[in-house]
Amino acid sequence: MYCGSEDFVLGSIPEAEELDYSVPIGWPARPRPLFDESFASWFLRVAQGNGVTPSELYRVALPGAYLHGADLDRSACPDLLRELSRKTGLAVDILQGLTFARWCGSVYDEDDGRKKLTWLPPAGREKSRKSYGQQFCPLCLSEDAVPYLRGSWRLGFVSTCPHHGTVLLDRCPGCSEPIQPLKLVRRGGGLACPRCGGHLTDGTPSPAHPEDVRFQAVLTRAIRDGWVDLPGWGSLHALAFYKLVSILFRLVSTGKFARALRHHLSQSLEERYATAQIPVVKEVELIPPERRAQLLRLVGRLLASWPTDFIAACKAVGVSQGCLIKDAAAVPFVFLEPVTRLLSGGPRRVTQAEMQAAADELRRRGEQPTYGALTTLFNVKAVEAERQAEPALAHEPYGQGRYWKLDGISPEVRAAARKMAHKEGENVAGWVEKALRSQLGLP
Ligand SMILES: [Zn+2]
Ligand SMILES: [Zn+2]
Repeated sequence: MYCGSEDFVLGSIPEAEELDYSVPIGWPARPRPLFDESFASWFLRVAQGNGVTPSELYRVALPGAYLHGADLDRSACPDLLRELSRKTGLAVDILQGLTFARWCGSVYDEDDGRKKLTWLPPAGREKSRKSYGQQFCPLCLSEDAVPYLRGSWRLGFVSTCPHHGTVLLDRCPGCSEPIQPLKLVRRGGGLACPRCGGHLTDGTPSPAHPEDVRFQAVLTRAIRDGWVDLPGWGSLHALAFYKLVSILFRLVSTGKFARALRHHLSQSLEERYATAQIPVVKEVELIPPERRAQLLRLVGRLLASWPTDFIAACKAVGVSQGCLIKDAAAVPFVFLEPVTRLLSGGPRRVTQAEMQAAADELRRRGEQPTYGALTTLFNVKAVEAERQAEPALAHEPYGQGRYWKLDGISPEVRAAARKMAHKEGENVAGWVEKALRSQLGLP
């Protein structure tokens, strides 16, 4: 059983005796869905139980239709559900409750079948692209009497197994291919990769950080309750909450403030190092579970007292309202309100007086207030720094030509060298190199 979340996600599947088995049954094997089982996992068991492949079962249920690489957890259509219901004796509602539809109204508001669903990335391969949307816990699978995939392993904010306190895996332990639920094969009673034949239970999960397990419990509880009590703010609808978490997750995962925010929110040197190693990628849903858990941990800290901690972090790393909100209609009020109230105004400019004081301070320390030293001190690219800065080196005027790099050579010599180089059809650097080599007796 999925520990600590008995009624989370799936609702309750009726006990066997409550199921209506009086309907005419077409298929011999009609397994009951297991706790929190995903639709694809159940569909695979129905197919395997009846000795056909998922593609064949799909064609039997919907004559003339082809499964191809469809993600049935998301795209099981009403006709398919009706026919499966007719042949297995399980109510359509129960079958629909195995699909993503169980999270409609809590994790996402509607699904037109085309747009990306936040927190529910595709699983497997989409044309040539790999997508690691199906996660799993090898320890849960090894303990299952009948190994099966949990629906909650599809949720992007779920990155750890609360039952085992370990990080989930999202690829084949043998060949690193993404998991395609309907292509898994059953071998020796376990689920195996169709490509390399390796068992999913061969993977060794790493222990999860206790803070990650705790925050995940908060995240999953919102599905069950439909709302969250956000410290510092009050009650918040689950939809707004997941939207908020997704905005914050993107902020620490990608974009120009990601690294600074990670640095600011990390609480130890070790954590700072670990979060700095996570690449800044646009497709945040491709971040593997272990890394995702580390980034979600930082999001949890931003939510510890909303919006105080978030606003403080934004001010510390220089995030302004303009950087956060491009379309006010696309963000929930819980985000819009504090950002517009507390982070309005453009980025703060360093004043002339501040830059002057910084230059004086550097001189007092015996350092030269160059442009580099001033901008490093403020961690900004300031116009004012250019005004206050002293040139780093006193040097002779440069020759013309953007490639001319020889400092300290007189203008006449440069001009003559350039003329000679052009005459010989060389570029200046190459000609000077040759001339110096010859003068120095180098090969
Ligand atoms: Zn587990
Ligand atoms: Zn494999």
